[in-house]
Amino acid sequence: TPPVRRHMERLAAEGIDVVRVTYPDLIGTERARDVLLDQLPAACDHGLAFCRAVYHTTPQGDVVPVPGGLGAGLPDICVRPDLGTLAPLPWEPGVAACLGDVTDPATGRPAPESPRDLLRAVLDRCAEHGLRPVVGPELEYFLCDADPAAPAGWRKYSDTQGVVYTAGLRADDDNHLLRTLRLLRDMNIGVSSGNHEFDGSQFEINLAHSGAMSAADRAFRFKAAIKEIARKEGRLATFMAKPFNGAGGSGFHLHLSCTDEHGGNAFDDPSGPYGLSATGRHAVAGVLAHAPALAALANPTVNSYKRFGPDTLAPWLIDWGLDNRSAMVRVPPERGPGSRLELRLGDAGANPYLLVAGTVAAALLGVLAGEEPPAPLEGYGYDTSKSAVLPMTLSDALDALEADTALTELLGKEFVTSYLTYKRDEVARFRRHVTDWEFTEYAYHL
Ligand code: GLU
Ligand code: MG
Ligand code: MG
Repeated sequence: TPPVRRHMERLAAEGIDVVRVTYPDLIGTERARDVLLDQLPAACDHGLAFCRAVYHTTPQGDVVPVPGGLGAGLPDICVRPDLGTLAPLPWEPGVAACLGDVTDPATGRPAPESPRDLLRAVLDRCAEHGLRPVVGPELEYFLCDADPAAPAGWRKYSDTQGVVYTAGLRADDDNHLLRTLRLLRDMNIGVSSGNHEFDGSQFEINLAHSGAMSAADRAFRFKAAIKEIARKEGRLATFMAKPFNGAGGSGFHLHLSCTDEHGGNAFDDPSGPYGLSATGRHAVAGVLAHAPALAALANPTVNSYKRFGPDTLAPWLIDWGLDNRSAMVRVPPERGPGSRLELRLGDAGANPYLLVAGTVAAALLGVLAGEEPPAPLEGYGYDTSKSAVLPMTLSDALDALEADTALTELLGKEFVTSYLTYKRDEVARFRRHVTDWEFTEYAYHL
């Protein structure tokens, strides 16, 4: 029996009659097609055709093309189900989902804007140097209830304060977290635990660590699942970086270590400075050196930069510290097999594939350059005389990415060009838009 038939028999026995084939677009949004089970062999043989130009549609319905899309006459991309990634969607009985592999039919090769292939290429480069990155994602999000009177039609699910590190009804009187955790467990994407975060309506759920590709896949599926589960409850879950004034932002912290050729932790060395190996220290130095460019991927929206600042638990300066949450790179206290760094730069709105690829690429460049990091931050610190400030706008971060030739080379020039084109269009649309703040601030007196 061909493998696809075996999958179909198993799915049918589980009561599944539809397979949702999904892939991430450039900004990490889940694009998908629901395929009837009996059509799965055809989808595997020929692939599913999607239009290459439709990488993002704004809420206003504008299709924003990327190079290779509109300019090329709106050609196809081809998406083939990767049946090894099949997982049930427990909130949608009868449906299982899998990831798709994206190719450009003109070349038969991955489309340069395919984030999953971009990560694959960066991981291949690591493998050439004997390194296998291991990643643990932590994601925060806000939950909203529909309210026609609220701005944009959504208000916070709960305004209860002082509920960080709680679970249960105190801040979550409809048990959203408990229900969500169980659904995610049944999806088998390696979710480990969850709790309430600092602000009313804000939750954090942690994913187990694993090889970098699997971690990015699971973070991507996690975000899509959370949004779907919330919709099923009539709610909106948002991973945008800073959805509300007067509340903190949502982070996408990445725990990063590397396995060496012998299966050991390549960042660990009990006799090295800080208990870190040269590889571990160089990785920290690489992430610091490439941070301004990395921000373009880790903090991908004009809103992202409103999350940064002193006293926010989000970073502001390009620094690192030993078990220090006020630094951009925190090295948690565990050593031995648990030796790792926690990059706190990313916000939850980041495309998991681009965040992981950019972080791993920056760390690899540090290893290849053999640089040592500066002295770690001591104490609670936001001292601009000691460390540089991160880019404070998307526009500045995009310029930093363009100027970072080493990172651009690792990520692929075609990808970076597409990304810059797309994101600079976003910046230009924002620059032309008159915000509520401006009217409130100026209209009366001027
Ligand atoms: N919400 C913070 C951020 O935006 C992180 C809080 C925490 O340390 O969990 O990164
Ligand atoms: Mg947190
Ligand atoms: Mg964290």
